[in-house]
Amino acid sequence: MSYVDEVLAKLKQKNAAEPEFLQAAEEVLNSLRPVIDRNEELYRREALLERITEPDRQFKFKVTWVDDKGQTQVNTGYRIQFNNAIGPYKGGLRLHPSVYTGIIKFLGFEQIFKNSLTGLPIGGGKGGSDFDPKGKSDREVMAFCQSFMTELSKYIGADIDVPAGDIGTGAREIGYMFGQYKRLTNSFEGVLTGKGLTYGGSLVRTQATGYGLLYFTDAMLKHNGYSLDSKTIAISGAGNVAIYAAEKAMQLGAKVVTMSDSTGWIYDAEGLDLDAVKEIKEVKRARLSEYKNYRPNAEYHEGKGVWSVKCDVALPCATQNELNLDDAKALVANGCIAVAEGANMPTTLEATEYLQKNGILFAPGKAANAGGVATSALEMSQNSERLSWTFEEVDQKLKQIMTDIFAKAAEAADRYDVPGDYVAGANIAGFEKVANAMLAQGV
Ligand code: NDP
Repeated sequence: MSYVDEVLAKLKQKNAAEPEFLQAAEEVLNSLRPVIDRNEELYRREALLERITEPDRQFKFKVTWVDDKGQTQVNTGYRIQFNNAIGPYKGGLRLHPSVYTGIIKFLGFEQIFKNSLTGLPIGGGKGGSDFDPKGKSDREVMAFCQSFMTELSKYIGADIDVPAGDIGTGAREIGYMFGQYKRLTNSFEGVLTGKGLTYGGSLVRTQATGYGLLYFTDAMLKHNGYSLDSKTIAISGAGNVAIYAAEKAMQLGAKVVTMSDSTGWIYDAEGLDLDAVKEIKEVKRARLSEYKNYRPNAEYHEGKGVWSVKCDVALPCATQNELNLDDAKALVANGCIAVAEGANMPTTLEATEYLQKNGILFAPGKAANAGGVATSALEMSQNSERLSWTFEEVDQKLKQIMTDIFAKAAEAADRYDVPGDYVAGANIAGFEKVANAMLAQGV
């Protein structure tokens, strides 16, 4: 049995209750086969794959807080420190009722390779809680964040582990958590990224993942003889990533026709009114169904459906496994030329395979959405030197990083004889740097 198959079999036995983690591990290890095969003896002796798939440590803790009615609530908090071979652990905090160990573990695992691809010195980590910020008052969110940080603060630090935002964790939550960390430790340090601009945050961090996704997509399209200009784009999600992906797509001359949230989706054939979406989602924290109040000619549908629309480029920016095989078939049938993942693992394994087999350019999230964490690392640099860079400076660096990531993924794919397979290319390029660092640092 090959080394990869042996490790996958062991992982399946050991992590049977964590399907999302197994899915991520399977995708990564399968695409690493060409590299592993060339170095099988060394990697097997060093147990490199067993080591890279086993987190350094994971914390699971109780978070108690009091709601507005005086009722005590209990949630579970998580932080996984997966791999720090190339830098301090780095990765976001997800606040969503679906959060459990398997989700945090898959996200932390993916983060290792994504962070490596940025070319910046950051290791892989992730965290979060099953707390749902939706429908909670600001005071309740603050109470939760303070309690969460009271425990989390024991494990993190500017040179140890630097969390950031993710689903459900935006500027408000980061602010409350940063305040509590400061209160507990009496130190003002860059322990979180995504901070407000008045207390150590970086310009462009808010836009970074969405903008970065479009810089990557633009590079991929150009490399293959296309351009974003006048293309029709379908986007899912209506959160941080989706909104700024739409903004940059429009700036680059494309037309965005769809967005979605957890209850439904909108279709605006003439091109979305992004100011309306921002007001609904960022200011009012309301449902997308309100979009029809701004644009009566647009359509609103309950449930899923974004991928049924005719588009040139599809950008899944909501959550994991939101684009399945049927969706992939619909995209291909409708003449889509590229799918680029803004969310983490939004495309199922079968859907990815189908898209690639049918000649669709496919940009995996760990490469295409790395702009967020890359800009977080730029925020860490600014915090260390106690300086703030301008919007243009950070944006320029972000663009360069995303273009470089595309080049690295394309180059690795060529080097291992799978040209155009950016999934394999990204995994290989991300893996090589971490693997070499792990080997150099010994057991
Ligand atoms: P947000 O919470 O800002 O937005 C998430 C969006 O997706 C919302 O519109 C939400 O709907 C929708 N959504 C969430 N869960 C589900 C679900 N189970 N079913 C249907 N819709 C859902 O999160 P982000 O935009 O920050 O993150 C989106 C994705 O991008 C995630 O996979 C995240 O891990 C990934 N990512 C984020 C980065 C960042 O910098 N923020 C960096 C790299 C990756 P509703 O509005 O109803 O809540």
